[in-house]
Amino acid sequence: QTPTFPDGTKKKTLVILGSGWGSISLLKNLDTTLYNVVVVSPRNYFLFTPLLPSVPTGTVDVKSIIEPVRAITRRAPGEVIYLEAEATEIDPKKNQITIKQSTTVHSGHSGKDTGSSKSTVSEYTGVEQITTTLNYDYLVVGVGAQPSTFGIPGVAENSTFLKEVSDAVAIKKRLMDVIEAANILPRGHPDRSRLLHVVVCGGGPTGVEAAGEIQDYIDQDLKKWVPEVADELKVTLVEALPNVLNSFSKPLVEYTKQVFKETNINLLTNTMIKKVSEKSLTATEKKADGSSETYEIPYGMLIWATGNAPRDFTRDLISKVDEQKNARRGLLVDERMKLDGTDNVFALGDCTFTKYPPTAQVAFQEGQFLADYFAKLHQVESLKHSVTTASPEQTDKLTKKLARLENKLPHFIYNYQGSLAYIGSEKAVADLVWGDWSNISSGGGLTFLFWRSAYIYMCLSVKNQVLVSVDWLKVYLFGRDFSKE
Ligand code: FAD
Ligand code: NAD
Repeated sequence: QTPTFPDGTKKKTLVILGSGWGSISLLKNLDTTLYNVVVVSPRNYFLFTPLLPSVPTGTVDVKSIIEPVRAITRRAPGEVIYLEAEATEIDPKKNQITIKQSTTVHSGHSGKDTGSSKSTVSEYTGVEQITTTLNYDYLVVGVGAQPSTFGIPGVAENSTFLKEVSDAVAIKKRLMDVIEAANILPRGHPDRSRLLHVVVCGGGPTGVEAAGEIQDYIDQDLKKWVPEVADELKVTLVEALPNVLNSFSKPLVEYTKQVFKETNINLLTNTMIKKVSEKSLTATEKKADGSSETYEIPYGMLIWATGNAPRDFTRDLISKVDEQKNARRGLLVDERMKLDGTDNVFALGDCTFTKYPPTAQVAFQEGQFLADYFAKLHQVESLKHSVTTASPEQTDKLTKKLARLENKLPHFIYNYQGSLAYIGSEKAVADLVWGDWSNISSGGGLTFLFWRSAYIYMCLSVKNQVLVSVDWLKVYLFGRDFSKE
């Protein structure tokens, strides 16, 4: 039997896809007593992505930056059902999605834009493949994005992304393996220098932070524990554009380049990786005189961080709604996060393509906005119900009130608060904004302390705040724990 409110309004079913920044922000701020709320996500935890680059080197432990979905749903005021599954298909006409139970949390790369038939997604390892359908009155799509490869051959097969916990764990394992494998070879052996070459592709914040963290590990720990290889382990960051961190202000870009130089991170700008093989990659460098040079770079480990591409579910949704046919980089939504061409499907975060950047900051604010929007939408629905049951004298008054309420449904307004990135050697860069009146760019050790405080403040729970602080203290006192798990 469909639950109803005391005024006779039917309680509608709100299905939320994903457990990332957007969906969890919505869930945390939503009055869950107003809807039958169902959360569907293959990942049964929220991941605090800003500290993910600290995981491969053991600066921060994985468990310190995740929060179980059920810990969040339990604190909600109304009942929330969580289904550990992924949405595989949608029928927007029937208001129905197909979901597949999945215990595999992966960076989501399907191999579909790689030009390769090989998928990097691990196969389902549970007991049975269970697929079912789920009906919704409202659907919020917050499935995020998968790592982009731009169809460059060999990327999906030979590199590691840095998107999910499984990626960070894979990088840690590979890093340990290349160090130990190189260590059994004599100095000067070509395989030894190849294995000890870590290449990071992409000079966006993910690539810069990953390179900085690995160089920290070399300088602060490996030199102590395995000095015989530490001076040979090299980190190279390859960026196709003339600069790294292109969304940051110019002085911070220059500062980052300077810090990389001082810490021996080899920065190759104007250089695009065109092909990846098992042991080497092909890069083309654009020279100042307009000419270009193509060469091979041998590597032991490749981390691929070149931004986002739509997930398969997002592509499926795009293909089923006419108004989405021009959507290439993500779902097209209006100023209320409602999907163009639908009445009851909303989308937020990295699966959308808007004028805002694909960041946690944006997804989080969109989640807060939708929570407020759904509360107001509930008032509209209740009033609509009152109009249908009102006496003829009341109908006119209520209809006018309804029109006013519908007009007052809010629009999303993004409040940019600044950007922060860790660049290694206990230095960070920050472009900060205070209201409309002040912009500050700063970089260095003090900014690093600010970066740490800001991220502690942003952690989702007190438990995470304590665990991350303890991890940092442990590294300060004892160095990084780099043992194999
Ligand atoms: P996500 O957080 O990626 O969540 C997507 C969710 O959907 C996941 O739970 C996933 O399991 C689930 N899902 C996937 N497929 C399906 C499906 N088919 N059905 C149901 N559920 C599905 N941004 C910042 O602002 N500041 C930072 O410091 C910062 N650091 C970052 C560091 C790294 C290493 C990375 C990778 C990103 C970083 N970002 C940062 C960007 C930020 O993480 C993203 O913009 C943000 O996660 C987007 O939120 P989202 O909710 O759209 O997607
Ligand atoms: P990005 O899109 O910001 O940067 C990717 C970079 O890869 C680009 O500079 C691009 O020129 C380069 N690139 C693409 N193909 C290449 C190739 N073949 N060879 C060499 N270089 C190539 O990607 P990202 O760093 O993964 O970030 C994704 C989103 O997440 C962004 O919106 C970013 O702001 C956000 N993020 C923010 C933070 C932070 O604020 N600290 C940290 C991580 C991610």
